Amino acid sequence: MIFDAIVVGLGAVGSAAIYQLSKQTPNVLGLDQFAPPHTLGSTHGDTRITRQAIGEGTHFIPLALRSYQIWRELEKQSAEPLLTITGGLFVGQQNSAVQTRNKTGWLNTTIQAAGQFGIPHRILDLPALRQEFSQFQFRPNDVGYYEPEAGFLQPERCVSVQLEQARKNGATVRTNERMLSFQSIEAGITIQTDRAVYHTRKLILTTGAWLTESLRGTPYADLLRVYRQVLYWFDIQNDYAQYTPDKMPVFIFSDRDVYGFPAVNGPDGGIKLATETYEHTTLPHAVDRTVSQIETQLMYDQFVAPVLRGISSACVKSAVCLYTMTPNGDFIIDQHPAYPDVLLASACSGHGFKHSAAVGQILAELALTGRTEFDTKPFQLASFSTFL
Ligand SMILES: Cc1cc2nc3c(=O)[nH]c(=O)nc-3n(C[C@H](O)[C@H](O)[C@H](O)COP(=O)(O)OP(=O)(O)OC[C@H]3O[C@@H](n4cnc5c(N)ncnc54)[C@H](O)[C@@H]3O)c2cc1C
Repeated sequence: MIFDAIVVGLGAVGSAAIYQLSKQTPNVLGLDQFAPPHTLGSTHGDTRITRQAIGEGTHFIPLALRSYQIWRELEKQSAEPLLTITGGLFVGQQNSAVQTRNKTGWLNTTIQAAGQFGIPHRILDLPALRQEFSQFQFRPNDVGYYEPEAGFLQPERCVSVQLEQARKNGATVRTNERMLSFQSIEAGITIQTDRAVYHTRKLILTTGAWLTESLRGTPYADLLRVYRQVLYWFDIQNDYAQYTPDKMPVFIFSDRDVYGFPAVNGPDGGIKLATETYEHTTLPHAVDRTVSQIETQLMYDQFVAPVLRGISSACVKSAVCLYTMTPNGDFIIDQHPAYPDVLLASACSGHGFKHSAAVGQILAELALTGRTEFDTKPFQLASFSTFL
């Protein structure tokens, strides 16, 4: 038997790919070494910000907009809530030179992109920020961009629902099965796992922080870097009602390198915030998953207390998660450099979840027809040649 396509890695991107494939043919297989959703990759921690004017670059906007449609389609099919609109408040100094995800001018690009793509938004000056958003502490030169259609996704639920829908459509989904190797055969690709051998016309690798293993021996072997990131939930001191999703937006303070969410786990569940750290690279099997008291206190002192009011230093919970970064924060969606029948995607760099549903569609289209309506040029491996 030969599958039309096999997807290896069923996190954010792979679950989207197998779901999209299964809409066209049931003759597809999805495999994961663990049982997604799990806490060992990049797709856990209750919430992910989604927004439409993408400060990381306007080439992402078609992916974000299409993903909004797919999340709503999945909600209808599953009757599970996946996307909550809270509005998004993005704050910084205009013309700031601070780098966000290896790109300068994140807030300016966001504002320009909103204008260019007709994305509803408001620009808020300091008095307006203070008046509308009393949960936050602003600095004298802060400017706010407010996007009413921004909000958060529930990543674990998005993965589960896409896998469930793929199964319903007839796809085969196998968990706790690890791909060990793959090789070209005359009519496609053979995969060896720790349980079986499979044949497929097309192989899609969406292995997240493990993708580097499949790029060994190619010019792109060192392109991706994996970084440990920590998510923190800090206790709300009082007036919980101010921090619920109907009152508080998702937020990114780009110059202060911190982002967060309203309280989604009840009065005792805390409020989730995170920063981004790029000091040391790690490997997915070797990452330190404990979070020390010292780093928790540092997070609170440097990133929480200066930005939010009414949040205590008591940490309700924390979680370690992995960023897989390209040098400029762009994604990879391309053919494997050595195997034309293998597609690969690294849609992370810390901002990939919101786009993952559309990336799944692109991968499915490329695997089954060799074509996609989306412009994938900015995501081709060749676009990284200056970094090699
Ligand atoms: C802390 C943090 C905060 C983030 N915040 C946001 C946000 O607010 N908004 C946003 O849009 N994005 C955000 N992101 C990014 C987003 O979560 C990621 O882009 C996305 O989850 C990446 O998904 P993935 O499918 O590439 O990887 P994963 O979900 O990790 O999936 C990879 C899968 O491959 C499997 N696998 C690997 N090797 C093998 C093998 N050999 N055989 C079988 N299976 C294998 C793994 O087990 C894993 O399940 C954040 C990421 C982190 C870590």
